[in-house]
Amino acid sequence: MSDTIKEIQRRRTFAIISHPDAGKTTLTEKLLLYGGAIQMAGSVKGKATARHAVSDWMELEKQRGISITSSVMQFEYEDFCINILDTPGHQDFSEDTYRTLMAADSAVMVIDAAKGIEPQTRKLFRICAMRNIPIFTFINKLDREARSPYELMEELETEFGIGTYPMNWPIGCGRDFKGVYDRTKREILAFTEFHRGQNRIEPIECALEDTEKLDSLIGEKLRKPLTDDIELLDGAGYDFDIEAVRQGKLSPVFFGSALNNFGVEPFLESFLHMTMPPLPRASGDDIIDPFDPRFSAFVFKIQANMNKAHRDRIAFMRICSGKFQRDREYYHVQAGKTLRLAQPQQLMADDRSIIDEAYAGDIIGVFDPGIFSIGDTICEKGMDVEFAGIPTFAPEHFAAVERLDTMKRKQFEKGIEQIAQEGAIQIFHEPGVVMEEIIVGVVGVLQLEVLEYRLKTEYGVDIRRRDLPFEEIRWMKDQSIDPRDLNLTSDTKWVQDFKGNNLLLFTADWCVRWAQQKNEGLELKEFDQN
Ligand code: GDP
Repeated sequence: MSDTIKEIQRRRTFAIISHPDAGKTTLTEKLLLYGGAIQMAGSVKGKATARHAVSDWMELEKQRGISITSSVMQFEYEDFCINILDTPGHQDFSEDTYRTLMAADSAVMVIDAAKGIEPQTRKLFRICAMRNIPIFTFINKLDREARSPYELMEELETEFGIGTYPMNWPIGCGRDFKGVYDRTKREILAFTEFHRGQNRIEPIECALEDTEKLDSLIGEKLRKPLTDDIELLDGAGYDFDIEAVRQGKLSPVFFGSALNNFGVEPFLESFLHMTMPPLPRASGDDIIDPFDPRFSAFVFKIQANMNKAHRDRIAFMRICSGKFQRDREYYHVQAGKTLRLAQPQQLMADDRSIIDEAYAGDIIGVFDPGIFSIGDTICEKGMDVEFAGIPTFAPEHFAAVERLDTMKRKQFEKGIEQIAQEGAIQIFHEPGVVMEEIIVGVVGVLQLEVLEYRLKTEYGVDIRRRDLPFEEIRWMKDQSIDPRDLNLTSDTKWVQDFKGNNLLLFTADWCVRWAQQKNEGLELKEFDQN
């Protein structure tokens, strides 16, 4: 086997998704600890970064480098080389998050055992499901009062329409939390004390029939329900089917407590053995084999380096096949040009270092002098490949912006366009209306503040921003329909994107339904596959 194939085979690239506060950061920290990537828990990202997003974003600008909230972390565990894609939650939730999921081969969904599915879990899940990538569920915070595990699994099944397979089963919760029962190994992982740090918890083999031993481990009160539950699960639950897992139809579920580092390592082990090396990607009608030794990659994210003195941008690309070598020339398909990728770098927690080579599954960041766009393909010369574009997701907040200084039209337009090109905002205009206003749509409301701040500091333009009451946007599937002929609620607005596509802005969900009910045959799309 060639070295390249060996390297690719040991790659695992996944995203961690969750609603804020479910424990994504804590779980990431613990995973990194097992890989020895960081010395101390707590250093993955300062909590402040996530909590006070705007002020910290400005703070970040002072540092050179890439904000840690956008990071890709690589670490080694056993023989695996693991890339974790962090998806920021909270106010800084943006389209970036969606795009990041395009670069992952599987997802780990963290759920708070007391809360179950929350709004952001829902949104992120939908994007993962769109790509049919395997989804693993980590139900967290069992050391606190939790909802019934049956109820949590049923919620996943009915809301998400997937099967669930509990890999382990919790024994009590909150103060009564005694550990988990591993259904494959048929042994107990006892939660006897706080296991902070890198402690390994030795599982205790114990047959369910050994009542005496069970009682000494978890007490009689919990023994009975545990044996009943396991019997029920073995008899009535889904069968474990690894193919269904790999097709994203069955989610293996793990119970644990990230904060207590309980159940994290068994989760990691099991996860690594169930997931696959980098998945093939579609290029037109062809499928690109990740083990093809020739390098190919696509850009899934562009980030302005938030430093005024160095107004450079970093394009993040996911390697889809072969091996990347720093000193080679590659072909940028959309520009039709060969180029050398400048300063290729990989990220490790908050460090970035220049790398000489990387493999399918890896994410590299390269210096972008303004030539790349989201979705671009870079590959070995002579390789006929162009990866499918990344869909444009529906923004959820809208504002009309105009410049205050009428003289600064050029800077204003350039700034807005560049920021839109990076994918931080989407821009629209109202057809037939001569106005200096541009309608900006964003996924996370923070992006509007970032826009205002960046236009001022990077382009010297002050703007007036008027937040608009729209909440939903839809692309019209049939672009030959004239939106003026439609029967719409009076507060629905017709806009066009800069490709000239017709879209409709709605103030509420029921207005979307109205449009669909009153206009036969009108098809509205939630995202645009460009
Ligand atoms: P994120 O917003 O999803 O990244 O969540 P964090 O990892 O920041 O966790 C949110 C809060 O929940 C923090 O205060 C954590 O210490 C706490 N937390 C995380 N995991 C656990 C757990 O297993 N048990 C308990 N009791 N608290 C947890």
